[in-house]
Amino acid sequence: MGEPFLRSKKGSPTLSSRETPTMNDVVYIVLDSCRYDTWEAAATPNLDRLGVVERRWAYASWTSPAHQVLLMGLLPHVSPPGVHASEVYRQELLSWRERLGAPDLEFAGFLPQLNLPTALKRLGYRTLGRVSLPVLNQHTVFATGFDDYRLMASHADFAGMIQQMSFDPGRPSFWFLNLGETHYPYLLPPEDAPRLHGLHGVVKDLAHAAEPVAVGPGFDPAEMACLRKAQVRALETVDGLLPALYAKLPADAWIIVTADHGELFGEDGYFGHGPVMHPKVFEVPFVEGRRPA
Ligand SMILES: [Zn+2]
Repeated sequence: MGEPFLRSKKGSPTLSSRETPTMNDVVYIVLDSCRYDTWEAAATPNLDRLGVVERRWAYASWTSPAHQVLLMGLLPHVSPPGVHASEVYRQELLSWRERLGAPDLEFAGFLPQLNLPTALKRLGYRTLGRVSLPVLNQHTVFATGFDDYRLMASHADFAGMIQQMSFDPGRPSFWFLNLGETHYPYLLPPEDAPRLHGLHGVVKDLAHAAEPVAVGPGFDPAEMACLRKAQVRALETVDGLLPALYAKLPADAWIIVTADHGELFGEDGYFGHGPVMHPKVFEVPFVEGRRPA
């Protein structure tokens, strides 16, 4: 997107003003667990229309802390050497000016909450969220600042999210979508894929004194390769739904597509994400741009 170092200007919209008619609708899509190299391996003609995918880094290795950071307005980060971390934060926050179509936007309204939907509401945005992972459900802190935020009934229903989306010509909308299609067990898992839970499912099973899932220190390479292909197929299915999304969006809409974290498919003895310390769990894809014509 645009020049990386935007300059601030004076006398322009602030987060306390209502500059709604000129601001962009924004659709922010998080492909849960989608690896950067899954995107490279997949055929994604519709995502490609947004721009060239970047390799970026997640601030956290699993859904809950990663979404906390995303909803603070910090996208997965670049990692330039020789630059103070504070400058990376600064540039990332300033990039919201281009996304929102507010080149002179000031940032006092991000404080004290440091919550993106809250800040956007102050600008006059409708703030709407649809999520797929139970750990992000509407009773959690992640619903903060949203006018309308819901956990979808299905783990993998991007098509249903698109159907629920609406836009108001008199007021910009911020739609935040967390997609489960790319999260294990993926949209089309192999029939014999092991049954594994995230934190939400683990807590539910503990309440019922269920047997712990036995996973050994080693993973079958053939099974891992099969699961990796399942994530690639899931991303291709998501890509196939994008024309329906593009058709629904106003011409000014700005689209962000990224992932909250990656996934391990047996590399160095790891499978999954979360309590895993490995570069592949932090490496994520990132692309953004105006709705393709
Ligand atoms: Zn996640």
